Amino acid sequence: MKIKFLLDEEEIPKKWYNVAADLITPLDPPLNPGTGQPLKAEDMQLIFPKELIRQEMNTERWIEIPEEVREIYRLWRPTPLYRASRLENSLKTPAKIYYKYEGVSPAGSHKPNTAIPQAYYNMKEGIERLATETGAGQWGSALSFATCLFNMKCKVYMVRSSYDQKPYRRSMMRTWGAECISSPSDTTNFGRKVLAEMPDTPGSLGIAISEAVEDAATHDDTNYSLGSVLNHVLLHQTVEGLELKKQFELADDYPDIMFGCCGGGSNFPGMCFPFIPDKLKDKKDLVMVACEPTACPTLTKGLYAYDFGDTAGMAPILKMYTLGHDFVPPGIHAGGLRYHGDAPLLCNLVHDKVIEAMAFQQNEVFKAATIFARSEGIIPAPESAHAIKPAIDEALVCKQTGETKTILICLSGHGHFDLSAYDAFFDGKLEDYEYPENLVKQSLAKLPKFQ
Ligand SMILES: *Cc1c(COP(=O)(O)O)cnc(C)c1O
Repeated sequence: MKIKFLLDEEEIPKKWYNVAADLITPLDPPLNPGTGQPLKAEDMQLIFPKELIRQEMNTERWIEIPEEVREIYRLWRPTPLYRASRLENSLKTPAKIYYKYEGVSPAGSHKPNTAIPQAYYNMKEGIERLATETGAGQWGSALSFATCLFNMKCKVYMVRSSYDQKPYRRSMMRTWGAECISSPSDTTNFGRKVLAEMPDTPGSLGIAISEAVEDAATHDDTNYSLGSVLNHVLLHQTVEGLELKKQFELADDYPDIMFGCCGGGSNFPGMCFPFIPDKLKDKKDLVMVACEPTACPTLTKGLYAYDFGDTAGMAPILKMYTLGHDFVPPGIHAGGLRYHGDAPLLCNLVHDKVIEAMAFQQNEVFKAATIFARSEGIIPAPESAHAIKPAIDEALVCKQTGETKTILICLSGHGHFDLSAYDAFFDGKLEDYEYPENLVKQSLAKLPKFQ
């Protein structure tokens, strides 16, 4: 039995797949935070390059990948698809478990798939510097890597709790020549305001986004870059799923159920969107499950409504599942899964019941990650482990029923910079946390008035 399904470099996709062409319900337009009117391309030009704005609003099914971007993708793509036969054996399940591993990129996750084209289009349009935020540090390091390849500068606002917990992510960003500071910082008006009101805040992605957007809006040579949520980000991530379809052909198999973790909702859509036409048009019986933490249960407990993308209300208002833009999640160890909202394209498909969602506690997630590491060897990122937990559960159900389902885990990255979280788990110091319903309600009371 084969364990690895590898593609040649030439098989890196030449086009990204745009799911906007195949939705059941058209996407609700993003709104201008000042006027509440649908956002115009001009509104975005202060902080984004024209080509990314064009992609953001595009509904064509296929969008060409520039040759310069494919050339850089070759450093780590195509990524491998593995058959997890050791995990299957250890669980004694008749199910077939596969995982596609994005941890082979230089930054250790799927995030360079979009960081490279984003830096590229900005460079093409004469931008010299990018400002961004980072939660766990994965996106900040991916963009630092990408900007350094195009000789651009990069400033990263890193959520304070991660900044303190993950010094080596900061070292990576420095190595690639970027500047990384703790958010809230005293270098933006919004950061200074938050520090005055909440000096001890652990920070949040919403706050860090506001700082980075302010930086970009107030510097002529600088644009803003976002690592998840937006349509163009999900578009770029579809290289994963397009490769995966070819790899399943090599394996002469097809998934019955796919699990992927969901923070802002980019790695999982990247993996599963190319399968959506199979499900909607060809009526394939494929289940897709977005997996999130109970501490930040956006898809499972949030409201489907228009909300601000950031805390200050400077970023566009998006129709999405949201916990409220002033939601400050507890400092759980899956830092990449702490955003108050989710990608509008993903939310649209969850709302139309094409994609499902489930939430899990930290301890059960780390337990699953450990089972995975002890059979397959790879130490998963805590974020990715949210997809391993239900995959193992599904395989154990198959053990009871004797079903030979094909299960896919989207393994978005490795956990080499998260080992202190593993230590906390082994030492019994990880706390489970269920975000209280009344706090969700309080935050949701502050949704923007335009609905
Ligand atoms: C950032 C990150 C995530 C969550 O982000 P999505 O946009 O939901 O993909 C998941 N896994 C890893 C390894 C990450 O770095």
